[in-house]
Amino acid sequence: VAEVATMMNIPTTSIISACMSLGIMVTMNQRLDAETLSIVAEEFGYEVEFVTADIEESIVEEEDRPEELKPRGPIVTVMGHVDHGKTSLLDYIRHENVIAGESGGITQHIGAYGVTLPDGQKITFLDTPGHEAFTAMRARGAQVTDLAIIVVAADDDVMPQTKEAISHAQAAGVPIVFAINKVDKPTANPDKIKERLASMNLLVEDWGGKIQSQDISAKTGQGVNELLEKVLLEAEILELKANPDKIASGTVVEAFLDKGRGYVATILVQAGTLRVGDYVLAGRHSGKVKAMQDERGKAVKEAGPSTPISILGLDGAPQAGDKFHVFEDEKEAKQIATKRTQLQREQTVRTQRHITLDEIGRRIALGDFKELNIILKGDVDGSVEALTDSFQKLSTEEIQINIIHKAVGPITESDVLLASASDAIIIGFNVRPMGNARSVADKEEIDIRTYSIIYDAINDLKDAMEGMLSPEL
Ligand code: GDP
Repeated sequence: VAEVATMMNIPTTSIISACMSLGIMVTMNQRLDAETLSIVAEEFGYEVEFVTADIEESIVEEEDRPEELKPRGPIVTVMGHVDHGKTSLLDYIRHENVIAGESGGITQHIGAYGVTLPDGQKITFLDTPGHEAFTAMRARGAQVTDLAIIVVAADDDVMPQTKEAISHAQAAGVPIVFAINKVDKPTANPDKIKERLASMNLLVEDWGGKIQSQDISAKTGQGVNELLEKVLLEAEILELKANPDKIASGTVVEAFLDKGRGYVATILVQAGTLRVGDYVLAGRHSGKVKAMQDERGKAVKEAGPSTPISILGLDGAPQAGDKFHVFEDEKEAKQIATKRTQLQREQTVRTQRHITLDEIGRRIALGDFKELNIILKGDVDGSVEALTDSFQKLSTEEIQINIIHKAVGPITESDVLLASASDAIIIGFNVRPMGNARSVADKEEIDIRTYSIIYDAINDLKDAMEGMLSPEL
């Protein structure tokens, strides 16, 4: 607000009152979204030109013709409650499922790896297990995962983080295959797990449902091949395709500085084919691909869709979730990288603005807002269920209310990430943000509302939907 006032050479208070007449309460140091900024500037006779949009325009993703699309392997994330066996499963697959005919096992931890089944089909695993990593990528705008394996220990139960993982996968629209793990243990009771899932409306195949599940032991390897086959079966339904015959684009999985080799970035090629010698832009960094290595430490010259590969040659470490693109021209890649760095330094990049309760009424009135996503946390099951019912009843023809995740417990950082990835607001009933949740919410600009009276929560939501909520100052 203050910055734009200076740019237009008018008092800050004029901007504040202009915003107020739009129904938005702002303070001096607040950031305005693109839409508001345009309207307010216009009122004072200015037109806003968005520079970010300009520089990003040179990144054009060409539409593929149907005949150019070839099948690609699924990209899979493993999620589940702590200690239920995510890492063990990934390790087992990494060590045991080494391809017939290919030399050497997977030796490098590059953040992702591919396996080839005996019949030649490929699966790519993201090697950072857990829904937090998954949703953090999504919050940065990267949809990488095609399918989620959710591990549940058969000697335990469907636990809070199991439920979270399920909500996170569902919010992303990613199909789930359950791996009921630790069946080698005498205390294992896979049926109990399936029953629990059924009671949550998640019917696995044994129970007459559509969701795939497989009893496994990540320790002995029992059932793991069958699990992978089920993953492929599920992937088949998705008809995953990409065009390998164009310049590459994809997502950064991880990056770091290696003392001897310089910046090393693991990237997942999602379309096209990446080759040594290509000019790459990844987030705020660019460079010429000097060398590429697969997860077996083998030098490779090219990498097609769904292939994870670590590359050398970038002039810095991009962040996980950053997109990468290949450019014909080194200069252009460099220019965009420089511009992005500048914009970030000036903090003028407004990546995403999330919905707040105050804004809902205005957005509904503008007609561009059809669904309100809510994450609901409460102190006891009873209040969570009561609020879920009441909130859902508030859905109207204009706006659908979706409770994308509900659970008993404090508001966590993972809730905030889910809200950021799914543009949701968080409502807490008799619970508060825990640990880093508040600071991450401030950074991501996620609206967290806490209540101790059910009636207040329902009324606020109702008022907000009618555009009648008095702003929280
Ligand atoms: P994560 O936290 O989900 O990654 O779980 P880990 O893979 O670290 O596993 C937690 C513990 O369970 C470790 O001690 C594993 O050895 C053990 N574990 C994992 N899978 C199995 C299994 O299939 N059978 C048995 N008996 N133990 C397992």
